[in-house]
Amino acid sequence: MKVSELGEFGLIDLLAEMAGGEKDEQLLIGIGDDAAAWQGDESIQLATVDSFIQDVHFPSGIAPWKELGWKALAANLSDIAAMGGLPRYALVSLALPDNTEVDDVTALYTGMLELGREYGVAIIGGDISRAPIVAITITILGSSQKKQILTRSAAKPGELVAVTGELGAAAAGLEMLKLKLQFDPQATACFDRAFLHPYPRIAEGQLLAEQGVKTAIDISDGLIADLSQICKASQVGARIEVDRVPIEPMAKVQFGEKSIELALSGGEDYELLFAAGTEVIDKVKRAAPCPITVIGEIVAGKGVTVVDRQGNPSNVVKRGWEHFITR
Ligand SMILES: [Mg+2]
Repeated sequence: MKVSELGEFGLIDLLAEMAGGEKDEQLLIGIGDDAAAWQGDESIQLATVDSFIQDVHFPSGIAPWKELGWKALAANLSDIAAMGGLPRYALVSLALPDNTEVDDVTALYTGMLELGREYGVAIIGGDISRAPIVAITITILGSSQKKQILTRSAAKPGELVAVTGELGAAAAGLEMLKLKLQFDPQATACFDRAFLHPYPRIAEGQLLAEQGVKTAIDISDGLIADLSQICKASQVGARIEVDRVPIEPMAKVQFGEKSIELALSGGEDYELLFAAGTEVIDKVKRAAPCPITVIGEIVAGKGVTVVDRQGNPSNVVKRGWEHFITR
């Protein structure tokens, strides 16, 4: 069987089963969440790794090198945010064609270092190898000082589903850059920032854990795709009301109806998607520095259903991003 027949998530399941045989008393979360977690001497330790591959994750030439560095690190830090943790160290592995300009590589590092400084993350190692295309692979080590971490597998029927911030602007940015669309300066800046310069929700992730949230994921592949991961890991279903999804206003203005699809399936917004009871959500709303919007609920069953205001199934949805599967 080819990997394209099995798909990214099928392949992850297969490899997780192979690697998951050994019992390890200190291991809290193994393969299959946003990061691995294990009990350290004084706190829970977290680790995650992610790759950014040219022509797979980013079309060649779409982003300046500095922004590429920022974004690649931000995507990784977002996985630590989704665990409610604090990122500390990064290991950066670069694959580069041998005609790559040194200035481009230092620009890439400048982007990573700028973001790292903002979040207290130091680059402490890595490696470099020659390759036909650019690939940036980053490993993040972090920790959670709290007893509580956020996982994908703790959602229960009856809980509400909520999201930080607003969605759709990153996918709008990708459309803008890919299709060379022209917008006014304000919209251009908004989409550029969302796609090239995302801010991982580190403080918000910690706040969720502090306030008693147990289930979260970051929105990297798309709202529906990432919520499906929570459903699968928690063995529940979810019902989303499309009208409640907070679409970034500028995306709504510039993309009209299409902005719904950008918000539901576009991905790369790096907002946090979480589930919790009403009381906990109310506490989070009061304490959070960003908008928190309830968009639906966890239900018994399987998979994500998207409904309109009347409760009828909505047909606006493409699922989201999965490697190897072409839709
Ligand atoms: Mg993630």
